[in-house]
Amino acid sequence: MSIDVRADLAVRGVRVPTPVRRPAGAGPSDDGHLVVEGGNAALPINPQSPYSVRDDKLWLGETDTGLSLSVVRRPRFYDLTTADGVPYEQIARLHGRDVLATTVVQTCIRYAEEQRCRFCTIEESLRAGATIAAKTPAQLAEVAAAAVELDGVRQMVMTTGTTAGPDRGARNLVRSVRAVLERVPGLPIQVQIEPPGDLAVLDELHAAGAVSIGIHAEALDDEVRRRWMPGKGAVPMTEYEAAWDHAVAVFGRNQVSTYLLIGLGEDPDDLVEGCRGLIARGVYPFVVPFRPMAGTLARRDGVTAPPPSLVRDVSTRVAALLREAGMLGADQSAGCAACGACGVLQAAGG
Ligand code: SF4
Repeated sequence: MSIDVRADLAVRGVRVPTPVRRPAGAGPSDDGHLVVEGGNAALPINPQSPYSVRDDKLWLGETDTGLSLSVVRRPRFYDLTTADGVPYEQIARLHGRDVLATTVVQTCIRYAEEQRCRFCTIEESLRAGATIAAKTPAQLAEVAAAAVELDGVRQMVMTTGTTAGPDRGARNLVRSVRAVLERVPGLPIQVQIEPPGDLAVLDELHAAGAVSIGIHAEALDDEVRRRWMPGKGAVPMTEYEAAWDHAVAVFGRNQVSTYLLIGLGEDPDDLVEGCRGLIARGVYPFVVPFRPMAGTLARRDGVTAPPPSLVRDVSTRVAALLREAGMLGADQSAGCAACGACGVLQAAGG
């Protein structure tokens, strides 16, 4: 697929109704879920986009791009409710066509306006009643079993808001992973955490059965980190480096990843060089275009998505480095790099 079209789509989005969306929550994207040329794609649903869909094909104005595009259908597990009355959809959601994603704790100690990451809306979906504050291990296990059985889910992503404990929420994920795997043995699970104070929790997550891990920096430049993430950016990069290195020792090379956002103002050459360093450590740099979601501080302040040319340039260069190192997203067992929907790295060959 042309990386130009894929990068353009990632920023300008597409005009099509999508039943599977994540309109608010943790992380940086606000997208509808589609399948483009057989790969997961999370794209802005934008009534002003020049791209539209007809007959499962992507059209640019009146021109057929020749690319296949289909909408992910509403999964059957969304229609179920737990015995204690919580809709499954509020416990975990479908991402792409086959990833089950959950935010185990939907609150964050860093959510006060002066601390909050400017791209995040983790507590907005809670306020809107779209989710519950804390998902129990039993609820997660129940929903995972149904999503696998009814909708063919093939992997699970568990993220968490940062908690006040010294482990920043990681130990709660240990319990959640264990419970899901007792119910659905063999389901590949990725956990996503901040660097935990005590690195031994990384061993515990692996021992519980998680197969991959995301420790997401979002930016590598300290000035950009402080500007965009006043709370999280105060965690020194040395803590990230120690956590990545320990995670690679425990989970293995290319089973550790970090989200990095294109469009926060980081110098593109520095960003690509930083990715080179991460790849050398065995960490997959999942570079993703930043699209400001409704409800974020960034959107309130009028920040816009980066130009598609920047997304293409950084993604193409990082994909080349990944190929050189033999580290492909598709080789990860679970998680965002394996899913690939939020970025264009896989379309660029990374
Ligand atoms: S890349 Fe990660 S956040 Fe994006 S759709 Fe896939 S699993 Fe969800």
